[in-house]
Amino acid sequence: MVNPISPGPRLGHGLCYDAKAKQVVLFGGFDKRGTPLSDTWGWDGVKWFLLAVSGPPARKWPAMAYDPQRGETILFGGLGGAGRSQPPFADSWRWSVNLHTNSAGRRTFMRGLIVFFALLLSFLAVSFAALGSDGDAVLALIQGVLIDGTGSELVTDSVIIIRGGLIEAVGSNENTEIPESAQIIDLAGAYILPGFINAHVHSGYVEENLRAWAQAGVTTVRDLGTPFAWTTASESVFDDRDQLNEDNVNARLISVGPLVTTVGGYGGYAVTSPEDARVKINGLIDGGANLIKIAIEDDLQNRRWPMLSQEEINAIVETAHERGVKATAHISTSSHLQMALIAGVDDVAHMAINPVSGELLNQTVELGTIWVPTLELWRGISHRYGLSWDRTARRNLANFVEAGGIVALGTDYDGFSMPFDLGMPMTEVKQMAQAGMTPMQIIQAATRNAAVACDMAEQLGTIEQGKIADLLILNGNPLDDLDHLEDVHLVIHNGIVIRDNR
Ligand SMILES: [Zn+2]
Repeated sequence: MVNPISPGPRLGHGLCYDAKAKQVVLFGGFDKRGTPLSDTWGWDGVKWFLLAVSGPPARKWPAMAYDPQRGETILFGGLGGAGRSQPPFADSWRWSVNLHTNSAGRRTFMRGLIVFFALLLSFLAVSFAALGSDGDAVLALIQGVLIDGTGSELVTDSVIIIRGGLIEAVGSNENTEIPESAQIIDLAGAYILPGFINAHVHSGYVEENLRAWAQAGVTTVRDLGTPFAWTTASESVFDDRDQLNEDNVNARLISVGPLVTTVGGYGGYAVTSPEDARVKINGLIDGGANLIKIAIEDDLQNRRWPMLSQEEINAIVETAHERGVKATAHISTSSHLQMALIAGVDDVAHMAINPVSGELLNQTVELGTIWVPTLELWRGISHRYGLSWDRTARRNLANFVEAGGIVALGTDYDGFSMPFDLGMPMTEVKQMAQAGMTPMQIIQAATRNAAVACDMAEQLGTIEQGKIADLLILNGNPLDDLDHLEDVHLVIHNGIVIRDNR
């Protein structure tokens, strides 16, 4: 069987729009010398097909897909950088404006998308097996203690089946069948957690950093402002991200690109009006931004900063949401938080360093806005300058958690000139514990909740069937002692063992 995705000597093959004939035609591709091949090679019997679309390289295989259930062709947003092992883009890239105009349409599209992706995966699995690669290898992790990130009871004699980079099945020894072909990894005495996610880093584009995070079991990081893109929005930022994501030893990089602000403001990528904001945010999303980050800041680091207007902030968040993209905001005070909540951001970066009123905390909780506290940052600044920002931030966090707020772990790695933890963010973890969060709450902040903040809740953050197999396996129980988070037994990233301390 030929793999139609990468047939080797063919380039540029696929379904194309023939502008002269005004119809979609089947194109055999070019040979190595660039001569078009006129045959249609191997498409017979394939029930779905790909439309070769030139677009952001961030996307692999954005496609027209035939949905056999609906009996019509649907649009598919494509896969992320590493292709098969990456989750599909839920939006449909440049078509999203049409598709997201009403929720019924979107639901229909999502159903079609799921059908298509299932077909794509099964087809690829067959193709890879036929090509003799290990794409169909099955791993069975047995006997470990499962802490699945959902907050449910621990499973002491667990079984996790991993196939094609995904969790195919998860359960207990009694109710989970182990395929005969599976390679068994015995994890007796070990504790299995979802791969950790640091939802606020900078310098995520430094390959050594991504490796260090992945080795520590932090298998995903969310870069909230790329220094080299500080003042411009360049699509190459997202190309670079995709290239880094091709290498499985790197932690998965989620990127907002530049930090959006006003002229001369905190951050760098300036918008000048609500209208300008719409254009630039659409540009970032077209370029491949995973999320949009804005700066709401007027007084920090001994400087006064011009700040985005509420209208501009609203326009930015609204534009992102129209495109199905989440928005996050840098804040440092209660008044910034208020502006972020009015605009409806999905999460806020940094715990406020002035006391937040109970009313505002409750409003944040009710809106479901996630808070990413970055206590490591506030602790470092407070120590250096003799401030009590860290104490106030911890108190705010304690009140927020008490009120039922959702917390995601993020440190602001490298966002300030001081040493930050690279790898497992133990300082942040300990600060969260000091603020009264339980080990289970901290683990969920670093897994399930951080996955939501990354807009990857469907693919990451918990150990459940169908999710990407990113796992952190420890030698001791982190619920007894958080220091066990640094006692790594195994790290699995996209279903592949990338660190083995057995
Ligand atoms: Zn930051």
